[in-house]
Amino acid sequence: MDQFRYNSYAQEIIFGVGSLDHLSEVVERMGCRRLMLCANHSMQVNGHISAVENILGERLISVFDRVHSHVQDVQFDEVVSLAVENNIEAIIGMGGGSPIGMAKAVSAALGKDANTAFPVIAIPTTYAGSEMTPVYGITNTKEDPPRKVTANNPNVVPRLVIYDPNLTLDLPPKLTGSTGINALAHCIEALYSIKRNPISTAAATSGVNHIFNSLLPCYTHPDDLEARTEMLLGSHLAGLSLASVTMGLHHGLCHVLGGTANVPHGIANGIILPHAIRFNAETTATQLLPVAAEMEIPVVGLKPVIAIEAMVQKLFHYIGQMNLPQHLRDAGAGLQESDLPYLAELAFQNHTVQNNPRPITNEMQIAELLRDAW
Ligand code: NAD
Repeated sequence: MDQFRYNSYAQEIIFGVGSLDHLSEVVERMGCRRLMLCANHSMQVNGHISAVENILGERLISVFDRVHSHVQDVQFDEVVSLAVENNIEAIIGMGGGSPIGMAKAVSAALGKDANTAFPVIAIPTTYAGSEMTPVYGITNTKEDPPRKVTANNPNVVPRLVIYDPNLTLDLPPKLTGSTGINALAHCIEALYSIKRNPISTAAATSGVNHIFNSLLPCYTHPDDLEARTEMLLGSHLAGLSLASVTMGLHHGLCHVLGGTANVPHGIANGIILPHAIRFNAETTATQLLPVAAEMEIPVVGLKPVIAIEAMVQKLFHYIGQMNLPQHLRDAGAGLQESDLPYLAELAFQNHTVQNNPRPITNEMQIAELLRDAW
């Protein structure tokens, strides 16, 4: 790593139990008087939306509480209209990567540059990591099949991120496990990224440690606040590592599976990650040795590719312990084996896939991986 180049972003991060209470003070300091909140419906049911309403009072002008997964274009148009009608000055995304992505997409649509883009505030309640990045996606449902298009706009990086572990206590076990594997995947693809840098590697290495310490305890004891706090820290570090690098085959493929086949992002991550690690092992084994060591693989004296294959076997078992689907045929969303060649074709055109550390020269390589994962 003698030469590197990366962007970092101006963000205020507030982390810790009860940190949602700081929302009012920071919004005041930002000078925002008219805010809009985007969330999932579950945030209404579990009272998190009411908590924000109580904190912001009359400054919260509009609430859109039914953001669907993968930010659908129809909903996006609806939220943009609401933001314009209500003369919004800042937008909050609370929940998983989808409402946070919606907030970024709306800010991008309404602002022309860094000075006019209105601020995004992110309050993550899953481990997906979108709060740390300038990237968002919109699913074009008018295409058949639908296709998710991602954009990278530094003006919409959330200016304030509030990580309050209290808001994750009701995240159900399946979402805990699947979005936790998404966080792990951010660390793994950051460690072997073609754009890796000292900060991404340090954040990813520490992230892996916190995730392995806490993800299973969060899955088995969802109300363990200490484990929830450590897992949120792991996902923050994973998001930080993700923000300054390009991802590879794994993430590009998960985006295609989500946008086109509507597979939930975390579920796609749990199925694809071990296969993607195995696919890349010849090129990336050395970078992943710290992860293997964290998984208690005795790496000393082993050839790196052998250690990584042992890690892959252990990872299948680890993901299985959280009862997550491990085959694409079990991913739901009506996916058929006959869809795989088309998905491989789409993935081959995906920009993120093309940044994979092991060059991908034809779509058959991806089709083979998908068949292994079927
Ligand atoms: P999601 O936002 O679609 O949410 C999944 C489910 O979690 C929803 O049903 C929601 O209601 C539920 N949920 C969230 N928090 C909850 C809580 N505390 N209690 C109960 N239920 C809760 O899923 P996600 O996996 O968080 O995010 C995936 C989306 O984010 C994908 O579209 C993905 O592409 C995107 N993403 C983007 C980035 C980026 O850098 N831009 C990074 C990661 C993911």
